[in-house]
This record gives sequence, C-alpha cells and structure tokens, in this order.
Amino acid sequence: MGLYDGKTVLIFGVANKDSIAWGIAQALHAQGAELAFSYGIPQLEKRVIPLAESVGAKVVMEANVNDDAAIDRVFDRVRDTYGTIDVLIHAVAFAEREDLAGRFVDTSRAGFKTALETSAYSLVTLAQRAEAMMPNGGSILTLTYYGSVAVMPHYNVMGVAKAALESSVRYLANDLGPQGIRVNAISAGPIKTLAASGVSGFRRSLHLHEQAAPMRSLVTQEDVGNTAVWLCSEWAQSVTGQVIYVDSGWNIMGLTVPFEEMDKPGE
Ligand code: NAD
Repeated sequence: MGLYDGKTVLIFGVANKDSIAWGIAQALHAQGAELAFSYGIPQLEKRVIPLAESVGAKVVMEANVNDDAAIDRVFDRVRDTYGTIDVLIHAVAFAEREDLAGRFVDTSRAGFKTALETSAYSLVTLAQRAEAMMPNGGSILTLTYYGSVAVMPHYNVMGVAKAALESSVRYLANDLGPQGIRVNAISAGPIKTLAASGVSGFRRSLHLHEQAAPMRSLVTQEDVGNTAVWLCSEWAQSVTGQVIYVDSGWNIMGLTVPFEEMDKPGE
C-alpha cells in the first residue's frame, strides 16, 4: 500500500536524472503515484522520455511555461488521460547566464522580466489550470532557494524571482484553500543540477554549505523527494502557504563559516 495509490501527479521541470523534479518523481512513484511529465525544450526529449518511461508515465509533453497555448495542450492531454490530478509539481526556473554573475544592480529590464516570468509567474499560470483539474482538492508544490531571503553570491535576479515565487505561494494558498488545494514551497539547499551550474561560483557554495550547515552535509534529491512525499500528502493536511527548508539547517545560521574555523587557537 502506497501513500499515493490512485493519485495522479503532474510534474513540470525534469531536465535529466539530476533534476530535483526527478528526485521528487521517484519518491512519489515509490509511494504508488501515477506520474505525468512536461519538459521545457525539445532538446531534453531524449533524456526525459526514458526517465518517464521507467516510471510508466502515459503523458510526457514539451511545453515552454511562458507559452499559454503549450501549457493548455499539456493540461488537455492530462485531462483526457486521467480526468483529474491530485498534485502539481512546479520545478522550473530560468535566468540569463549574464544575470547570474557580477552585480545585481546591472540586471537589464529584459533579464529581470525573463527571470520573473519564467520562475515566478509560471507557478501562477500552472495553478490556474491545476485548480480546474482538482475538483476534490489537491496539492501544489514549488521549489525555491534561500537567496530569496538573504543575499547569496551571484544569485542576483533569481533571488528576486524566488521572493516573488514565495509570495505567490502565500497568495495562491489563500485563494485556493477554500477548494481544499494546498500550495507550498520547498526551499532546498544547493544541489548540483543543470540550472544550479548556471550560477557563477556554485561549486564553491556547495563546498561552504557542506562545511558550515548545522548538519555538515549536502542535501540530496532524495531528501527533497521524501519531504515532497510528506508535504503533498494528507499527512500534511493543514499545511499551506509555507516555505519548508530542506537545507541541512543552513537558514538558521547567522554566520555561515565553519565554526571549527572560529575555534582555532589565537584567533
Ligand atoms: P534543472 O535544470 O534540473 O531544472 C530546471 C528546469 O526548469 C529544467 O527542467 C528546465 O527545462 C526548466 N525550465 C527552464 N525554463 C523553462 C521554460 N521556459 N519552460 C519550461 N521549463 C523550463 O535544475 P533544478 O536545480 O532541479 O531546478 C528545479 C527547481 O529547483 C528550480 O526552481 C530551482 O530554482 C530550484 N532549486 C534548485 C536548487 C539547486 O541547488 N539545484 C536549490 C533550491 C531550489
């Protein structure tokens, strides 16, 4: 018996086997969920289709989340195949590479718009369609990062986009709560993925995280997947509008340097 037996989950944002969305997909599949996938660009097809097939997905479709007609095609297909959905996973973010290096103050109007539209508004537009397919309630989950709250090196416009995303989670939770639809975010610690490698200096931040987070460990796809299983299930029945940190405790720290460094004699 799985926690997700008889439940259907639509997942946006698998790019390859390293994607956080794939970690979530595997954890939900292990609990009996029926999975449908949408991926961002045609070049990802050869990576995403074999993954989707390995978990028996009946729907695997490309859609740019900035294209309403493409999103509609995905939801129409999912409706024709399953009727309704129980869970929507939004694991999508994008900013131009030049906006993930250097100074935030230099962000262009176009770069700001791209990052905010793709990484924050996309949750809203997907939630509109998910609402119509969740007549018995459901759960919507997105992924965010601590760069929304505090300044992280080179995260820049993506930090601003994540702040908008987290605020959207709260407004969506309020709008959709009466229909029994919960909306939450997982704020994950750094994980080596395609998107993360676009942030200048990411490898260094991985190293620091491992040294300075309370648990002295990196976060895995599996950690995020397991939290998603809980958060999107009835075990989290009254949890909505929240940002749940899965970051080995990094966000509680005031000074994020390894404490061992502070205890060196004579310093
Ligand atoms: P990833 O590269 O595997 O996933 C990002 C996904 O966004 C890709 O599948 C990409 O195709 C998709 N995407 C980008 N633009 C799109 C568009 N216009 N239309 C449709 N899809 C589009 O990387 P990931 O790290 O697994 O990212 C998933 C989510 O997790 C993102 O929101 C990211 O910000 C968030 N996150 C990542 C980390 C990390 O350290 N990796 C930490 C916290 C939060």
